[in-house]
Amino acid sequence: MSLKKHGRSLVWLRRDLRLEDNTALSKACAESKQVAVVFVFDLNILRRLKSRSDRRVTFIYDSVVELDLQLRKLGSRLIVVTGDPEIEVPKVAKRLNAGAVYFNEDYEPYAKKRDTSVRTLLQSASIECHQFKDHVIFSGADVTKSDGSPYKVFTPYKNAWLKKLSALDYSLKRVDGKNFVPAKSLSFVSPMPSLEEVGFERASLARALKPGRKGALKNLKNWIDDLPKYHTSRDFPSLEDGTSGLSVHLRFGTISVRECVRIVQAKPTPGARVWLSELVWRDFYQMILDQFPHVATGSFKKEYDKIKWLGSEAQFKRWCEGRTGFPIVDAGMRQLNATGWMHNRLRMITASFLVKDLLVNWRKGESYFAENLLDFDLAANNGGWQWCASTGCDAQPYFRIFNPMLQSQKFDPECEFIKKWVPELKSLSPKEIHLLASENPKAIVSHSEQKILALRMYRAAVK
Ligand code: FAD
Repeated sequence: MSLKKHGRSLVWLRRDLRLEDNTALSKACAESKQVAVVFVFDLNILRRLKSRSDRRVTFIYDSVVELDLQLRKLGSRLIVVTGDPEIEVPKVAKRLNAGAVYFNEDYEPYAKKRDTSVRTLLQSASIECHQFKDHVIFSGADVTKSDGSPYKVFTPYKNAWLKKLSALDYSLKRVDGKNFVPAKSLSFVSPMPSLEEVGFERASLARALKPGRKGALKNLKNWIDDLPKYHTSRDFPSLEDGTSGLSVHLRFGTISVRECVRIVQAKPTPGARVWLSELVWRDFYQMILDQFPHVATGSFKKEYDKIKWLGSEAQFKRWCEGRTGFPIVDAGMRQLNATGWMHNRLRMITASFLVKDLLVNWRKGESYFAENLLDFDLAANNGGWQWCASTGCDAQPYFRIFNPMLQSQKFDPECEFIKKWVPELKSLSPKEIHLLASENPKAIVSHSEQKILALRMYRAAVK
C-alpha cells in the first residue's frame, strides 16, 4: 500500500529557484505520487519595475530556463505562466487535478498577503496548501527572548541563534526526482514564454555572475578556498574574492542557506565563523521584517519619521550618478550602476553619506538601491539602510557619522578600488585622493559642515 498522501501535487517555486535541497519540493515528492513544478512571472511585481531591461528579470529568466532543462532531463518540464499568482496557481492546480500545493515561505508583506489569498482560494477548491520554512535557518518566531518577544538587538539574537542551531536545522532536504509528472501529461501547458513575452529585454549581467543553479555552484567552487580568510578580507572592496558574491544566488534561492551553513559547520575556521555571522544578519533582518512589518514603510523607531530632511533633489541625483566629489562614495555608486552589485563596506559608506552628509531621506536611497541591486532583498536592504540612518533596531547611534576620508584611508589605502571606478583620479597619489574627501573645492558639500547640520537635524526630531 502506498504511503503517499496525494496522487498529484503542485510545487510553486518563487525565491527558491532550485530542485536541490528545497524543503517544499522535498516534502511534495515524499508525500505525492506525482509532482509538477510551476513558476509564475508575477505581473504584480514585474509591472512595478521601472526598467524594461531589469538585470534581475534576466537572471530569473535564465534560472527558470535552466530549471526547465533540468526537469526535461527527468522526463518532465517546468510549467511557466505569466500573470497574477492568485489566479494562475489555483488554475494550474485545478487543471492538474492536484490534491495539494506546496511552497516555501516568503516574509515580505506583499508575499504574505498574496500567499494568504492563494491559500484561501485553494482551500475553497478543496486543494490542500502546505508552506515551509526554507529561505532562512530560523524564521520569525523561532528565536525569541525568554518572554517570547522578538529580539531587537543583533548580538543577543545571534547568541541565541547559535545556541539553538542543531544539525537538523541545516540538513539536506533531499529531492529524489523520480516522481515528476511526465511531460506528455503536461500538454495543456503553453511553451516557455520568451523574455520579450514576459515584457522585458535582455540585460547584460556582470561577467562573473552566472545565473541559475549552475552559476551558484560555480561561484561557490571558485570562492570556497577564500572562505578561511574571509574575516581579514571582507572589508576591502579592492579584493575581488574578499566576499562570496553569493548574495544574488541566496536572494533567488539558486543556493540554499542550509548549504552555506553546512560548509561552515564542516570546517569552522575563523573566516567561516565570521561568514556565518553574516548569514545570521540575513536571518535577523528577515525576522525583523516579519515581526515588525511597519519597517517596510517607515522607521523602525517611529519618532525618526519626524526628521525634516534638509537635502535637495539635485544632491540626491549627484549621489545616484556617483558625482559627489567624494572619491570613495563615487566609486561605490559607480560600481552599483555598472554592475548591479556593491561591496558591503561601500553600501555602508554611500548610505551613510547620503543620509548624514547630504541629509537626504534614507527612504530615497533605499528605493534607489531597490531598483538597482541585483541582490535586492527588502529585509536586508531595509535593515541596512535603517542601520546606516540610525532609524532601525540596533542601528548605529545618530551621532556616529562615518568620516569618508577615514573610511577611504582604512578600507582602500592604495586607492585601487577608487581608481578602478573613478578613472579620472588615476594620476593622483593615494594621499591626494583620500584628501579629496576632506578638502575638495569641487565636492558637493563639506563633510565637517554637514556633520553639524546632521546632528542638529536629528536632534530636532529625536530629543
Ligand atoms: P558575503 O560577505 O559573502 O556574505 C554572505 C551572505 O550573507 C550574503 O550573500 C548575504 O546573503 C548575507 N549578508 C551579508 N551581510 C549581510 C547584512 N548586513 N545583512 C543581511 N544579510 C547579509 N544584502 C542583500 O542580500 N540584499 C540587499 O538588498 C542588501 N542591501 C543592503 C543595503 C545596505 C545599505 C547595506 C549596508 C547592506 C545591504 N545588504 C544587502 C547586505 C550586504 O551588503 C550584502 O549582503 C553583501 O554585500 C552581499 O555580498 P556577498 O554575497 O559577497 O556577501
